[in-house]
Amino acid sequence: MSDGVRAAVLFDEPLARHTAWRTGGPCDAYVVANDEEAVQTVLADCKAVGWKLTVLGAGTRSVVREGGLEGVVLKLGQAFVSCAFVEPDLLVIGGATPVPAALAFAASHGLAADPALYAVPGTFGASVLMDDWHVASARVARSRRVGEVDAAALGPRFKGVVVEATVRLERVGSIEAEARFRRALKKPDIPPSSWVVGARSVRAELRRASLERIRLRQVAIPVEAPELMVNLGGGTARDMHLLHRSAVERVRRVRGVKLETRIKWVGSN
Ligand SMILES: Cc1cc2nc3c(=O)[nH]c(=O)nc-3n(C[C@H](O)[C@H](O)[C@H](O)COP(=O)(O)OP(=O)(O)OC[C@H]3O[C@@H](n4cnc5c(N)ncnc54)[C@H](O)[C@@H]3O)c2cc1C
Repeated sequence: MSDGVRAAVLFDEPLARHTAWRTGGPCDAYVVANDEEAVQTVLADCKAVGWKLTVLGAGTRSVVREGGLEGVVLKLGQAFVSCAFVEPDLLVIGGATPVPAALAFAASHGLAADPALYAVPGTFGASVLMDDWHVASARVARSRRVGEVDAAALGPRFKGVVVEATVRLERVGSIEAEARFRRALKKPDIPPSSWVVGARSVRAELRRASLERIRLRQVAIPVEAPELMVNLGGGTARDMHLLHRSAVERVRRVRGVKLETRIKWVGSN
């Protein structure tokens, strides 16, 4: 999107092009907004005419079904990728910023985060709603206005768009911060899991239930990292759901362990 363009709109846009899982049929309008006013205008217009609106970050938690999504899908543009200091241990981070990039920036300035956050591959705007950040305040867009809210307003049920948030991190000095960052990437305290949670080691539980090396057409549970379900190319949301459901059921039956999903299936079949 060239400079100065406030929003780009694509009609009947296949969402498989815009989600990490590479699945998903079309939405009526795919909007990339590049300033707060554009975000607020999209929210207000959708409300005014009753269009359904879905906010999309990196799509690492959202598996879009083959039938696609009705209405408008809103994505924050490049202008919302930012990190800046407010105080020595207080960072304001843009909603579209990839979490690993924000944590790399923080580490290079001597700041460290909660170990669990280093494994999150998605965007900050989504993560601040679901993960354990020390939020001081957030700037959010709703249909009527863009404004500040405090941390209590955020959470998985939040309605609106997080355009940026201010978070407190731990000042530990660059050497320690960089060491924690590298360690978390190499050997994360809490191994990342893209599809299920609920066991100290999801990898171990899946292995003990003989679930690694399982493939269903173009989706698979890889032997190297069974906690990372993968789309081998052309895999469908339907197959991912089938594989996901049967794996969780098998772990429950064989291991007596109830794994919870970390993925959200959205859209129609
Ligand atoms: C390989 C892999 C490993 C993972 N490991 C972890 C892990 O270790 N820990 C962990 O917690 N998660 C993990 N996840 C899950 C996921 O990455 C996180 O939940 C991440 O925060 C989701 O961000 P996203 O931008 O991809 O969200 P999306 O899937 O795009 O959206 C998720 C939800 O947030 C909403 N949303 C997105 N952006 C905004 C915004 N700016 N304002 C308001 N609402 C918004 C969407 O509407 C949707 O409801 C992993 C995923 C993968 C693929």
